[in-house]
Amino acid sequence: MVRLSNNKDSWIWNIDREDEFSVNSVKKALISDRGSSHLPNFEWCKGVPIKYNIMAWRGNMDRLATRINLRRNVDITSVMCPFCDEYEESVDHLFTACSVAIRVWAAISTWCNIPPIFAFDFKDLMDIHNSNQEGKK
Ligand SMILES: [Zn+2]
Repeated sequence: MVRLSNNKDSWIWNIDREDEFSVNSVKKALISDRGSSHLPNFEWCKGVPIKYNIMAWRGNMDRLATRINLRRNVDITSVMCPFCDEYEESVDHLFTACSVAIRVWAAISTWCNIPPIFAFDFKDLMDIHNSNQEGKK
């Protein structure tokens, strides 16, 4: 909305009725505006570097640079997984279904002394910490 007056020009952020712009108010507006048809909210972890959060956030939205996702804009010779060469390289395959990923998760669960990690898709990996009974560590 535009109001014309003789006063000095100014911008007013009134989406949350506080008239003061903040990144938090933009975030709240975007979350409330997207409705329930979009992906669930991503839970950011303050205990890890931001680049890991961004990687997990992008993986949660299937926006990592896998061969399946790259083929839309990049001319690549094969979309097959470079580790197993049995399935297409998607986010879910790369992090959960690939034989290499399964071995990595098994090693991590042994190393952390927690029950075996079984994930069927990338989002399962993002929720594992919620079902782990071994405490915050
Ligand atoms: Zn694979």
